[in-house]
Amino acid sequence: MKLSFYGAAREVTGSCFGVEVNGKKLLVDCGMQQGFDNGFGQNFPFYPGEFDRVVITHAHIDHSGRLPLLVKQGFKGRIYATEPTCRLLEIMLRDSAHIQELESQWQSRKQKRSGDNTVQPLYTVADAEKVFPMLVHCSYNNTVDIGDGVSIRFSDAGHLLGSAYVEMWLEEGGEKKKVVFSGDIGTPGHPLIRDPGHISEGDIVVMESTYGDRSRAPVDDIVGEFAEVIDSTLSKGGNVICPAFAVGRTQGILYHIREVKERGLVKSCPDFPVYLDSPLGNAATRIYSGDVIDYLDDEAAELIRAGISPLSFDNLHFIETSDDSKLLNEDRTPKVIISSSGMCDAGRIRHHLKHNLWRRECSVVFTGFQAFGTLGRTLVDATAQSVTLFGEEIAVRSRIYNFRNMSSHADREGLLGWIDAFEKKPETVFVVHGEHDICKAFTARLIGEGFNALAPKYSSIHDLTSGEMVFEGRDIARVAELPQDRARRESAVFQRLMLAGTKLLDVISRNRGAPNKDLARFADQINALTSKWEK
Ligand SMILES: [Zn+2]
Repeated sequence: MKLSFYGAAREVTGSCFGVEVNGKKLLVDCGMQQGFDNGFGQNFPFYPGEFDRVVITHAHIDHSGRLPLLVKQGFKGRIYATEPTCRLLEIMLRDSAHIQELESQWQSRKQKRSGDNTVQPLYTVADAEKVFPMLVHCSYNNTVDIGDGVSIRFSDAGHLLGSAYVEMWLEEGGEKKKVVFSGDIGTPGHPLIRDPGHISEGDIVVMESTYGDRSRAPVDDIVGEFAEVIDSTLSKGGNVICPAFAVGRTQGILYHIREVKERGLVKSCPDFPVYLDSPLGNAATRIYSGDVIDYLDDEAAELIRAGISPLSFDNLHFIETSDDSKLLNEDRTPKVIISSSGMCDAGRIRHHLKHNLWRRECSVVFTGFQAFGTLGRTLVDATAQSVTLFGEEIAVRSRIYNFRNMSSHADREGLLGWIDAFEKKPETVFVVHGEHDICKAFTARLIGEGFNALAPKYSSIHDLTSGEMVFEGRDIARVAELPQDRARRESAVFQRLMLAGTKLLDVISRNRGAPNKDLARFADQINALTSKWEK
């Protein structure tokens, strides 16, 4: 029985963990790398055809976005997720594939002009559509035997519609282990979705640490504060720009704006217009407004039963086409624009920033986590006087707000409360899904609290039976410190080499226990190869 860390190891995106039991392999999450290049890009450090099953904690792209790539590269098994996650995956993976296609067309045009070859998309819409028949729709709190000595149970993580913790029971040769994967841990009081639950037992825990370094002071009236920003901005003739993840955060903002309007909190313009400029956000809002009442919290369910849609109000407009999106920038009426991507590294939000960032009377309101290396992080940290958008230098003059309390991630106290709910301290807590220093700091905090905690390295392998780390993996920090453009330039060929190195280490670890004669020969061959390339 082995547990491998193929992603989100000392970094905040690209969640992907491997479990090996009875000679069969499965993955938990298959997320896209976002924000910065860890040196491996979107490459898998394994052959996808070796895996039989995937379990997905929730639909966010950093937990699910490489599923089409997995299938394209040879995965043929089944993918287990909750019912709402399956529904969200269908729109999110299609959208992600569409973005990949557009980006590769744009890159190809650029490459062609410089005489290079065309660029292939990471995956296409057709690849994404091959994922959907593989999905096995599961319900919460139901233990499912998925075969080969593995049973799983999803329970509500309170982070996104359908988000789940995964409890996994493994059995091999009479040996039993229970591994718990936290996915992303939610926060109480988040609109629409239920408060996060707890898990009470597990031998091994793999837990996230996104906000493991900070506490969020509770805010009495988040809706009131949000309304104040809208009121003061619109009264000066400015626009409020909300970069938001199309699924989850966007619906949270709509829910709050409905309340702002209902309470008449924006005095300067009570009937202010709101534009949701994100086709994916529009599609997700339709899912949230559909027959998912059983998955919503009591407050939202009560509104629906009373005939009130929690996500609609007067003067809300859904923008689908890019032409209509561009027209928004010509209309001088003060307004609220919600658009994606949430971290501003792609999508229509970049156009809205180009047209509004330089205007002192405008506001940009962030409500979600901004990963290192994204434009959103630059703006939140106020580290730039100007930014480059579509080849143009744009001054940063608008007001930038960061509403951390709207985040659907638990803060440090929430994370500590979650792990403290285990009745008996787990054998090991692996801390993942946090930026390098945060991951390490939160691990140190857990050790201080008496837990056996560690922050595993990329592609490390832990033997669940012996409790030993059989392969240490590689710390991605050195690559993270590379200047962004250098990391990108190196990517294509250097990534291939890195991948080859990872595979070699994987092969070495699998040869543990082989005859000494073979091991010695293997070592000699590697030494001969490395001495040839040593610099
Ligand atoms: Zn998430």
